[in-house]
Amino acid sequence: MSFEKIIDRIRESNRIVILSHVNPDGDAVGAGLGLFLTLNKLNEELKAADEDYMEKVVRFVLEDNIPRNLRFLEGSEMIERDQYVESKYDFDLAICVDAATDERLGTTHRHLERSKFVINIDHHTSNTMFGDINHVEDISSSSEIIYKLINEMGIEITREIGEALYTGLVNDTGNFAHSNVTPKTFAMAADLMERGVDNSKIVREFFHNKNLPSLKLMGMALQEMVYNSEKKFTYFYLSSEALEGIQGLKEDAEGIVNLINSYNESEVSLFMREEKDGSIKGSMRSKHNVDVNKIAGMFGGGGHVKAAGFTAWDMTPEEVVEKVLNKL
Ligand code: 5GP
Ligand code: MN
Ligand code: MN
Repeated sequence: MSFEKIIDRIRESNRIVILSHVNPDGDAVGAGLGLFLTLNKLNEELKAADEDYMEKVVRFVLEDNIPRNLRFLEGSEMIERDQYVESKYDFDLAICVDAATDERLGTTHRHLERSKFVINIDHHTSNTMFGDINHVEDISSSSEIIYKLINEMGIEITREIGEALYTGLVNDTGNFAHSNVTPKTFAMAADLMERGVDNSKIVREFFHNKNLPSLKLMGMALQEMVYNSEKKFTYFYLSSEALEGIQGLKEDAEGIVNLINSYNESEVSLFMREEKDGSIKGSMRSKHNVDVNKIAGMFGGGGHVKAAGFTAWDMTPEEVVEKVLNKL
């Protein structure tokens, strides 16, 4: 798949907004930031070549705060939170990264609606192709797609850009552990290291950097998880009351679903978290043959075969579990 049309659009557009999904993870932030820094660099290069060049306005807007363990990324301080962005702003181009559906953009959807053109760059098989151009590839991460795009643009990947993209890789491959890793993923990682990316710093800052609520939550999940041996299914429900009880934020629950699925008997896992609005946010993982993308689809969610998520409305956690068990 070539990026020619995408690159032409970027070059033609003067006001560009980058968007990604709610509850941003390392790939949402990494891919978006990698692209954001690249477009800023494109501005600098064009300016250096032509004094009269009108710099493009480039913004990266997310509904939520950047999770604490991603703030080490250089440039992440330039990512804007949507609630502080004035609404009267029209963009020529919106580029969405790592969002399987336009609903996943949350409140930033309003910028999509106001943009003249939409480019959708993603790696989820469940992507709904909501853009005017859709570049959807079933590879490790959106960051891996952005890496290829930047190379095709002919812009040099600096260490800052590389660290953002490397973080996306680490996030979506479980630090190169999942089956979505290919030789190309390693080739990309090797190339980024050559460009100065410090892999152990990223893993330390991003993975091995748990605050107290996250650790308490791990303990709680391990204590309270339920295992259904017939379906080889492990699940855990976290109420908002329990989360508040340990002074935790929703981002502190990142990784819980993988933790409970690391149980050797477990084939499939489900982590449910109660949202403030009463809905239940579900995260699922599968080790082998169970397609959790299909299960999440029953609730209007999606993702990948081995990792997917959904939001369930007007249901108790017991009802969610029952529906999943029936499907399994
Ligand atoms: P996580 O469980 O880590 O939040 O997400 C696992 C995968 O499922 C990710 O690729 C994520 O983008 C996708 N995903 C999570 N929640 C949703 C959702 O509500 N809707 C859709 N379509 N995909 C989701
Ligand atoms: Mn993501
Ligand atoms: Mn991703």
